[in-house]
Amino acid sequence: MLHKNRVFIYINQIEEDGTQLIHQLDPKLLDLSESDHFHSAGEIDIDLWVKHVGSSVLVEGKITTSVTSECDRCLENYLIPIEINDYCHYFDDFDDYIDLTDTIREDILLAFPTRTLCKEECEGFCPTCGTNLNISDCDCEEEDFSEEEEESSNVWAAFDNLNLDDLPSE
Ligand SMILES: [Zn+2]
Ligand SMILES: [Zn+2]
Repeated sequence: MLHKNRVFIYINQIEEDGTQLIHQLDPKLLDLSESDHFHSAGEIDIDLWVKHVGSSVLVEGKITTSVTSECDRCLENYLIPIEINDYCHYFDDFDDYIDLTDTIREDILLAFPTRTLCKEECEGFCPTCGTNLNISDCDCEEEDFSEEEEESSNVWAAFDNLNLDDLPSE
């Protein structure tokens, strides 16, 4: 049922009361080579149940794998386990076989986190000296946020002071 990194189910191999499909797939199937942010870190394990439902074929089950990514805050690489417990697709349009590859790939991509944090309380790194603050503190002064706030309010003040009469008229 595996062929060149694609996952096929041959219809004539699906048993009356369903067929279990357990495989380890090459992570190349994900084709992450174009992604700067996520990299494959392990095999893709599929544990699926395939059965006829009327004239359709239902495939459901579990897919697990792992990827690495860079933490948004501290920029360290870390491992992200991906676990899909509700893979579920109906297939209506097929001849001798069904190709599951695209649905597997898409479901895994959808399971990637939109925000990558190595841990919820990641301290990030110091913008001044670059120290990873999860590992050690640094001696830089703490950023004064009140000053920054003041600056941004000045930006708006500048807008307020704009004399609209000075704008070229049509
Ligand atoms: Zn981090
Ligand atoms: Zn620092």
